[in-house]
Amino acid sequence: MTAYHQMSRQELEKEKSLLDAAYAAFQAKNLKLNMARGKPSVEQSDLSNGMFNCLSSTDYFSEDGVDCRNYGTLDGIPEMKRIFADLLHLSPDEIIVGGNSSLAMMFDNVSSNMSHGVRDGIPWSKQGEVKFLCPSPGYDRHFGICEYFHIQMIPVAMTETGPDMDEVERLVSSDPMIKGIWCVPKYSNPDGIVYSDETVLRMANLKPAASDFRIYWDDAYAIHYLYDKPATILNILRECEKAGNPNMPLIFSSFSKISFAGAGVACIAASRSNIEFIKQRMAMQTIGHDKLNQLRHARFFKDAQGVLDHMAKHAAILRPKFEAVEEALERELAPLQLAHWQNPKGGYFISVYVPEGCAKRVVQLCKEAGVVLTGAGATYPYGNDPHDSNIRVAPSYPSVEELRTAAELFCLCVKLAAAEKILS
Ligand code: PLP
Repeated sequence: MTAYHQMSRQELEKEKSLLDAAYAAFQAKNLKLNMARGKPSVEQSDLSNGMFNCLSSTDYFSEDGVDCRNYGTLDGIPEMKRIFADLLHLSPDEIIVGGNSSLAMMFDNVSSNMSHGVRDGIPWSKQGEVKFLCPSPGYDRHFGICEYFHIQMIPVAMTETGPDMDEVERLVSSDPMIKGIWCVPKYSNPDGIVYSDETVLRMANLKPAASDFRIYWDDAYAIHYLYDKPATILNILRECEKAGNPNMPLIFSSFSKISFAGAGVACIAASRSNIEFIKQRMAMQTIGHDKLNQLRHARFFKDAQGVLDHMAKHAAILRPKFEAVEEALERELAPLQLAHWQNPKGGYFISVYVPEGCAKRVVQLCKEAGVVLTGAGATYPYGNDPHDSNIRVAPSYPSVEELRTAAELFCLCVKLAAAEKILS
């Protein structure tokens, strides 16, 4: 295949009329497919249906004899804390089990730091214009939290080993109004990048100008592998302890993509001293989270190994879906050098970089032919992808057959947008 930029105008015009015809044929199919949000499929949710039968009208006590129907146990039942601790390689007293959403716990943490300060320090909102570092592309809802609180977002480039640490170190050490950084250390959203040891070590050894700087370590995809076994990375809490920064990281995780996305269990993990502060605040919000759901999870999964075994079943469902999209990209776009992407080993997304200035057009073309994608730009602070290039593809929900069709259309739209751009 001749790359478009090597074609004469006449050749490219001919190619474009073929693409137009193929696109019209797709439109005639009246497709209705969605590769926008990283939602588990019905089949994946079905894997946890056993949880509906885990408890009974006589079985509702946690292992320490607490009646899970009643108030209390602010930081979670012991068996659920142990499961999180084992999965995250931490100790149970470094964990608080929350409600169903880790995003809610992140929002809440930022909110209370804005209004009341970190560990009773000066509220962030009273110190001036608060800033966060936002490795980009990143998770749109992290950026949404910043926007909501009028926190200025500073994009930092992502590399194949994690955020550009030269830039992170330079910024964090020079500006006391930089109060946080969003990190998705394993199978990052959207690039699927796993932080290298060097990245974790440099993160742990940061010397922030702000004494109330926090690393928001969102381990949403800690064990969400597609091949063989989960990647292992250095333990941020332990590395921060060694570096004399024990209170710097706040770790978040959840069962949203392990059990049920709408009814999982989330946690925050941190130093014991941070946990005490967080618990004091949490005590003003709730007398305790949903312990019956925690107990259901503990009964169903039994222990961390049970969770890991369960993740192999998710991987078996997800792998062919990722591969269906990757095969189409490789076949249709690689020879034309029209896009690049990582073939992620875990997580929920394939992050595709189309020719500069084409992402919005590709998303529009796909939409007009019945395939909804994440809005172009959504993976950048303020929805602003400076290169208009990144598109986050979420292959988890549609069937493999549907994905083959959707991926074929996606590739066609990339070609069309690229041809239009060169000819314009
Ligand atoms: N963090 C990341 C990086 C995510 O991609 C997602 C969901 O897509 C979440 C958090 C949401 O987590 P939860 O369902 O626990 O609120």
